[in-house]
Amino acid sequence: MKEIRTIMVVGAGQMGSGIAQVAATAGYQVLMRDVEQEFVNRGLNTIKKNLQRQVDKGKVSAEEQTVILGRITGTVDLGPAAQADLVVEAISENPDWKKALFTDLDQICPSHTILASNTSSISITELAAVTKRPDRFIGMHFSNPVPLMKMLELICGLATSEDTYRIVRATGEKMGKEPFKANDFPGFCGNRIIIPMINEAIYTLMEGVASVEDIDGLIKAGYNHPMGPLALADLIGLDTVLAIMDVLYAGFNDPKYRPCPLLRKMVSAGHLGRKSGKGFYQYT
Ligand code: NAD
Repeated sequence: MKEIRTIMVVGAGQMGSGIAQVAATAGYQVLMRDVEQEFVNRGLNTIKKNLQRQVDKGKVSAEEQTVILGRITGTVDLGPAAQADLVVEAISENPDWKKALFTDLDQICPSHTILASNTSSISITELAAVTKRPDRFIGMHFSNPVPLMKMLELICGLATSEDTYRIVRATGEKMGKEPFKANDFPGFCGNRIIIPMINEAIYTLMEGVASVEDIDGLIKAGYNHPMGPLALADLIGLDTVLAIMDVLYAGFNDPKYRPCPLLRKMVSAGHLGRKSGKGFYQYT
């Protein structure tokens, strides 16, 4: 397989712009695609601001910043995917949109191109199945905010080849990430462990076992977590927590994954955590 030189990131939102930034910082040529020029520009501005902060802190020189930004080309066309050795998809978490995109990418990209998805919850095997290259398809699950978080969960679908895994792992390491391997099961590895823990914390709150402050304080002081599960839920977004619980529940058909009714009620009320200003805590 060819060496990875050019990476296309599809989706210039929170995750896509972060992935484009770390890829360009690692020396890759980056194409960043979104559906509207306005969204591409927003992604490019986020990257500029992030890099400027690094320059202000003295971690990156002004010259390096110019070089890194020069490696990123924004586009609203998918055609340039023909130049990519690796495509990382980071569009909205909608299975139909992702499948339509991978069907198109499979037509446009040369045969050596590896296709990767940053999905939090959609089956990698299912996405790979819409392409004629399921062996060159993999999950690349970064953590938010991408430039700061080390974790990279690599999810192997049923047909992902060992070669694909090795190349993508080396690419992730070059981006400064710490890769971990998981097989394709609902929730993969990280979310399967963390999200039910958050769900259980919400049950303990609903049942009156302990208060928000006591639940979070106990877990931090007693188990060395940097953040309590309810504060973490607010950070992730309660709608996202619920969506992942729904995926686990549907995927395993096991009642141990039933979403807590209080979680569902808070999402219905629009109390989504930090992004809505209110979750288990108030944000101003
Ligand atoms: P976001 O809403 O910030 O960005 C999504 C972007 O995709 C938007 O700019 C949208 O215009 C664009 N888009 C939609 N369809 C497109 C298409 N066909 N081609 C190009 N662009 C398209 O979302 P996000 O938080 O960056 O999440 C993106 C993906 O990353 C999702 O699959 C999500 O599950 C996953 N993820 C998110 C997080 C997180 O904490 N936000 C963490 C890990 C993984």
